[in-house]
Amino acid sequence: MFENVVGDRSAPTLSELAEVGEYRRGVTAFPSLTPVCLTSIATGAYPDVHRIPHLVWWHREELRMVEYGSSFAAIRAAGTRRAIRDTIVGMNRDHLAKDAETIYESAERAGLVAAAVNITCYRGTHRYLPTVPGLAPPTFGPRRFFFYNLYESDLIGAPLSVRNRAGGSVDEYAAAAARWLVTRDGFDLLVYYLSDLDFASHLHGPEGVREQLKRTDGNVRALLDAAGGIDEFLARYAVLVCSDHGQTHVHQATRLQDHVPTRTKVTASNRAGMICADDARAAAATLDGVEAVDAAFFLDDGACVARRAGDEDPGLLDEYPLGRERVEAALRNPNAGDVLVTAADGWEFADLAGLHHAGGGSHGSLSAGDSEVPMLGIGVQPPSRTVDVKAAMLASVLAPVP
Ligand SMILES: [Zn+2]
Repeated sequence: MFENVVGDRSAPTLSELAEVGEYRRGVTAFPSLTPVCLTSIATGAYPDVHRIPHLVWWHREELRMVEYGSSFAAIRAAGTRRAIRDTIVGMNRDHLAKDAETIYESAERAGLVAAAVNITCYRGTHRYLPTVPGLAPPTFGPRRFFFYNLYESDLIGAPLSVRNRAGGSVDEYAAAAARWLVTRDGFDLLVYYLSDLDFASHLHGPEGVREQLKRTDGNVRALLDAAGGIDEFLARYAVLVCSDHGQTHVHQATRLQDHVPTRTKVTASNRAGMICADDARAAAATLDGVEAVDAAFFLDDGACVARRAGDEDPGLLDEYPLGRERVEAALRNPNAGDVLVTAADGWEFADLAGLHHAGGGSHGSLSAGDSEVPMLGIGVQPPSRTVDVKAAMLASVLAPVP
């Protein structure tokens, strides 16, 4: 979709940026789900290092499910206090590995001012209380920090972000915060996350987001305007425009739990699933005839095994973009299940509540459609993997090239 709307110029701001930048496709982490992928972007590491395994996972020490929800708005709608806490604070404070340094921590250690707007991986060294006392625990973010009105490093008078999710109020809030930051040149490094496009694509499918893409384009334009125009903006900043994952059409959904023996611990959502089992091979074998399953992966004596329809063939890993390194990194995360499952084309795994996006779009699998992302660099070389975004941006801000 990025290539389409830049190709026909229906996204004017992205098209203008593409004209002066360098474009390529990049590959994101597996499972290609937002908590995993944004954490990979922010830490420059795969899940074996940062330890965020999925949207939903079994916490072996605490013997409970962790459910981040598909979005902050969805979590609020779901309303469970534990899930809100896990999503907003637990992911950063408790689950994110302490030795996986975030881009904000790295930048501020080098004496720079880092800023984060609405991104789910935000850990920094500054302590913040929620804007509404008692709604959430204190958390730690970068020097400039705006998170869905809930935590704000500065009073900016932005509109409430969750009042109308479908109407674009989340990105409007992000744009208001970023406009405020650019107007003041209030940062050395900014991570600006617009999530309304993902929301629209789940609903309408990846081809049905042209209208939303125009709004997203406008929310990028807001930054340029705040600087006084594209030339002024690019004179001040190097820019990398990317996505945390792709999306593909889904037509059918199934509950992965229904295909394994009862009482097996299964966590599945969107287009990826995980199974906790003492005998990983036996658990993977129960999925041999399941149409919704493309392939299952597990470790056998430390080696990665790929299984599809009963055949175990390591060559399967090479069918996917960077399949081998992404699957191995996902399996070597201590918070991951013992078996990882990637969904077949057009299929989705229903979540804990039985919800799915059949008829719309989804992501999470190893397939190219879910895993490839646009990478547009202006003043910075666009990297071929999202795990290289952190290093590319830090290099550009610490040793700027003319
Ligand atoms: Zn999504």
